[in-house]
Amino acid sequence: MDATLPTDPSLCPLCHRPNGCAMAAGLPPESCWCMNVTVSDQALAALPSSEIGTRCICRQCGVVGNAPGPGSAKDHPSI
Ligand SMILES: [Zn+2]
Repeated sequence: MDATLPTDPSLCPLCHRPNGCAMAAGLPPESCWCMNVTVSDQALAALPSSEIGTRCICRQCGVVGNAPGPGSAKDHPSI
């Protein structure tokens, strides 16, 4: 039996929920939520090295530890 699951670029590697990545949805990278927030170093450090640069984490995991600020991604088109 092959236990290897396909890597779904639309799922967060930390919590396995939809990451809302614009690129995974076929939208321009600049429209992704991650371009409008600072992804926490803590979240990046929690990623296995094999996942870095492979797929996005979700917003909830990415902004952990970051206080929400005014004017943050309120006009995101796809979430
Ligand atoms: Zn997540």
